[in-house]
Amino acid sequence: MKKYNLPVILLNGIILLPNNKLKLEFDSKNTDNNVIDMSVLFHNNNILVVSEYSTNKEIGVLAKIKNNLELPNGNTRIEIVGIKRVKIVEFLNLSKTNEPLESIVSEFNISKIENEDIIISKLKKELKEYIKLIPYVSNSVLDVIEKEKDLSKFVDIITSNVITDRKRIMEYLKTVEPLKRAEMLLQDIYLEKERFQIERNLDLKVKKELDDNQKEFILKEKLKFIKEELGEYSSKDVEIENLKKKIEQLDCPKKIKERLKYELDRYEKNSNLSPESNVIRDYIDWLLNLPWNNFTTDNKDLKKVKEILDNSHYGLKEVKERIIEYLAVRQMNSNSNGPVICLVGPPGVGKTSLAISIANAINRNFVKISVGGISDEAEIIGHRKTYIGASPGRIITSLKKAKTNNPLILIDEIDKMNKNYHGDPASTLLNILDKEQNKYFSDNYIEEEFDLSNVLFILTANYIEDIPEALKDRLEIVNISGYTELEKIDIAYKYLLPKILKNNGLKENFVNINQDTILKIIRNYTKEAGVRELERQLDKIIRKIVTQIVLNNIKINKINIDSKSLLKYLGNEKYKYNKKSKSQVGVVNGLAYTIYGGDILPIEVNYFKGKGNLVLTGNLGNVMKESATIALNYVKANYKKYGINYEVLTNNDIHIHVPEGAIKKDGPSAGIALTLAIISALTNKKISSDIALTGEITLRGHVLAIGGLKEKVIGALRAGIKTIIIPKDNLDQLNDIPKEVTENIKFIMVKEFKEVYEVIKNGK
Ligand code: ADP
Repeated sequence: MKKYNLPVILLNGIILLPNNKLKLEFDSKNTDNNVIDMSVLFHNNNILVVSEYSTNKEIGVLAKIKNNLELPNGNTRIEIVGIKRVKIVEFLNLSKTNEPLESIVSEFNISKIENEDIIISKLKKELKEYIKLIPYVSNSVLDVIEKEKDLSKFVDIITSNVITDRKRIMEYLKTVEPLKRAEMLLQDIYLEKERFQIERNLDLKVKKELDDNQKEFILKEKLKFIKEELGEYSSKDVEIENLKKKIEQLDCPKKIKERLKYELDRYEKNSNLSPESNVIRDYIDWLLNLPWNNFTTDNKDLKKVKEILDNSHYGLKEVKERIIEYLAVRQMNSNSNGPVICLVGPPGVGKTSLAISIANAINRNFVKISVGGISDEAEIIGHRKTYIGASPGRIITSLKKAKTNNPLILIDEIDKMNKNYHGDPASTLLNILDKEQNKYFSDNYIEEEFDLSNVLFILTANYIEDIPEALKDRLEIVNISGYTELEKIDIAYKYLLPKILKNNGLKENFVNINQDTILKIIRNYTKEAGVRELERQLDKIIRKIVTQIVLNNIKINKINIDSKSLLKYLGNEKYKYNKKSKSQVGVVNGLAYTIYGGDILPIEVNYFKGKGNLVLTGNLGNVMKESATIALNYVKANYKKYGINYEVLTNNDIHIHVPEGAIKKDGPSAGIALTLAIISALTNKKISSDIALTGEITLRGHVLAIGGLKEKVIGALRAGIKTIIIPKDNLDQLNDIPKEVTENIKFIMVKEFKEVYEVIKNGK
């Protein structure tokens, strides 16, 4: 290996790579002047440049001095051109500070490079992109390397133009193999490009944010100024800040939060004077107060649920069983689109309070919606905001009240909804009850979807016949009929009195009230199928006693209430029940079922000279009027069978009267009683007042089933009836009537009216 001597110039802070130039200037006192002289005089202008002497004593650059120039101030300026890397074998004169530094160097053997041109063109390509991207790299470097075919030179030139980090340049200097350096360069270019891109994106983002913030700030300041001018600053701003906080803290779906932010923005920009401002404000309040993600956790222990229901409600065995079954099925499959429970029965039988108990037992909040009298579906699903005074419908309103998204919602009086041009509330209700659809329930006012699929709906109705047909299909009807007098007495002792005493802060054995007294309250101070009125009367008695105790400051541990003291507490008797009257021609006992329970309904028929017309009095409803017409026409068609003189039938007008005119009477159940009363009048035969009848009649004389059998039978027994004729189709319901009632009455089942006649004729 060839070795030779070279004078040395040490550079600190500057690195000279081969194939690059360097300009240096020394003053006359600098010892490097001697080195330059030595190079020029003895080494054909060759010199060894050693960069970063402290860390690098192995590799230097063989360079040539060009343009050695004496400046007028005495300084020397030279230009050095790097030629190639050489290995430093040894430094000479190191310890002699006055002598120029010299070295012995040897050259490297560089292996031949394959595909040099391909690597160069690849580098060129990358470099071009790099220059395009990074604005501070000069284009001129491209001109320099345009025709370069030597990879080593190529890389050296680019390195000094592209790499700025000194340490890294040193690594290039120390790497002798050009191929290795080319790889390093490619890698550095990639890295650099990436870093630049990240930096640029960051810059852009920061800049945009700054711009946006500035813009918003300026706009807000302007707005504030305008508001101040209008005198509406401050309180609204505080309010907006509060709303902002509330929106931030609200636990709700993302979409709702975005909507809230949007609306708040609108509210902020709207002047207080604009009518829209209030609308937006109300709307924000609604969204803020709905229980989007709030719920209670179900109590799944159905044994416990049953216990709670038993403790709160007397009897209702079948009803409770069906409810437990229903809850069990829901537990197995909460998504099942099964039927919805509908409790059907007269007022005061415990439909609402049972639903409240269910809610308590399964740990759900309870809310009640009444849909009685509703004819506009907007009542249920809200009015659009464009309406003046618009508000959400009852479903959303009740959810707000419930404060959870899985309450038990009781929809009351579904048999009293009306249908008109404003839409059909029943079909709206159907959609709400349908699990497939109610996931996406949307109130017209709220506009955003609210998931109702976790709500437990229970419906109630008084009359099954009046439930809209489409709705009835989706319901599991659970009948709760009225209570007998004995049941009422039991309820009073076991449930109502303890509850009332507790509510008044009294001990359980505070009152002593005997059965007869309670029965008197039931018979003369209430008229109902349920026990609501009974509860009120008992409550009234206890309240009066408590008031007296407090007013007179007396100490009592126990108080007796007998039937005589009722006058004092409850005033005069309010009701008297119909008692059967004496048997008379043309008078027959029908049976009525109203919200007050069952009772006998005497029907009177008379006739007088006329043309066979029908006169009806006694406040009859349309259905009952039709029943009367059918009854008369049936008699006309079958006059012979029932021994009626045809002359009497055609030369007279028939008058049917149902006394107790104050009560509106309707319903399809008086047909056979009307028919029998007409026959009794026209044949001048008495019908025993011990008998009562219920059942509808067709023109052909078939007897159709009726509703409210239990209540009717209870009413009949109270009135002193001994035999009741009922449609055969009602046979099953006899099982629902307590034994203490059925034991005291004889039942005769009929399918055709002629069977009724047989019974009467034979005086059974
Ligand atoms: P509905 O909703 O059927 O009109 P409520 O649920 O309002 O009737 O009942 C009226 C009152 O009667 C309530 O205070 C309730 O507790 C009481 N009540 C009704 N049925 C029963 C029962 N079977 N056992 C105990 N209390 C009852």
